[in-house]
Amino acid sequence: MLALFDLDNTLIDRREGLMDWARGFARSRGLPAGAESAICERLRERAYPADFVHLRVVLGLNDDPGDLWREYVEGVALSVRCFPGVREGLEALQGAGWSLGIATNGAGDIQRAKLTVTGLASFFNGIAVSEEVGVRKPAYEHFEAAAELCGARLGAGGWMVGDGPETDMEGGRVAGLRTAWVANGRRWAEGPREPDVVVRGVTEAIEVILAATD
Ligand SMILES: [Mg+2]
Repeated sequence: MLALFDLDNTLIDRREGLMDWARGFARSRGLPAGAESAICERLRERAYPADFVHLRVVLGLNDDPGDLWREYVEGVALSVRCFPGVREGLEALQGAGWSLGIATNGAGDIQRAKLTVTGLASFFNGIAVSEEVGVRKPAYEHFEAAAELCGARLGAGGWMVGDGPETDMEGGRVAGLRTAWVANGRRWAEGPREPDVVVRGVTEAIEVILAATD
């Protein structure tokens, strides 16, 4: 059976990693107060090279935007951590015979750098990054590509675990998967259709998936 996972703020704490990086970057460049929050605000949901064309101007930097992007990719990959218990949970799923996949929106270099540095990449049979597969969640085709990379078919069912109400939960539901929403302290309020399961964090979702195979 197939279990697909979102990456940012599901398996890894991107929010915290971004804040750490922005703080260090602002300090290293001697940027004025407010720079850190401008960076976090701009990159809150997602970061692409084009964001650094904008930030370069806003922050008054002379650097080449491509260099800034590379500095960000390396720096954030080193700053992010996976949530406690994630590796053990993925290991348990592997042991129980699940095929594991990543379904994430974003640029290939940054998403893969985070998976490598956190040591998570090796747990996954397939990794679908929107920039690489050419289609973003919640599109059906994104989930289809993720399943294919895992050597699986969506028609055989499975799970989608993520923190995005639209991208992960609605997308996963339309793809025919059971859905586990990682609340991260929020309450489910969006959309008419509730996910199959609401969990506090990803390790709880993994417990639910493991129990469902009994
Ligand atoms: Mg997410």
